[in-house]
Amino acid sequence: MMLPTHALAGMVLAVPLVATAPELTPIGLIAGLLGGVVPDLDLYTGHRKTLHFPVYYSLVAAVGTVTALAVPTTLTVAAALFFLAAALHCVTDVFGSGLELRPWEGKSERAVYDHYRETWIRPRRAVRYDGSPIDLLLSIALATPLLVVFEGGLRILVLGALAVGFVYTVLRRALADVAATVVSLLPASVLPYVPPRYLDEPPSDRSV
Ligand SMILES: [Zn+2]
Repeated sequence: MMLPTHALAGMVLAVPLVATAPELTPIGLIAGLLGGVVPDLDLYTGHRKTLHFPVYYSLVAAVGTVTALAVPTTLTVAAALFFLAAALHCVTDVFGSGLELRPWEGKSERAVYDHYRETWIRPRRAVRYDGSPIDLLLSIALATPLLVVFEGGLRILVLGALAVGFVYTVLRRALADVAATVVSLLPASVLPYVPPRYLDEPPSDRSV
């Protein structure tokens, strides 16, 4: 799933705070947003492995949630929301596509790395690829409760995420070709630093 979808999903986790602990809602939203985004900071260094921990984030999130429910403070709620959002990000990545430049071709069997079992989890492709129309629909569905419950700056942030998601969805396939072209122009000395999914790609099947 694309980053706006993960970001919105992380913030949605904080919505229940509006009814249960409204004073902690702002910190919960920030923590959920960060937890939804942070795993993908590994985009160019071991993507879906370096900062993706589907098992360990889930374990920490479970302990964090119990702690936050027992002792709801700014720190415990922020930690719980951060790890819940990060765990949700990594687990939902499994239901997306594999790690490849043109994921709609469905050739990669690597969705997310499971550090606990030391193996890659295969993609389930319920959301066929990041930036697919279904991914955008998911973003819209996640944005809806946020737009209903909140107003002001957060609404602008949510609408901004939706706008980014829309543009990314429209350009998604063209961006893969742009990336391949840029990589083909790079000097050989730089190639060792380029993520493998950008290299040795089979020719694009534009009819798919
Ligand atoms: Zn991810």
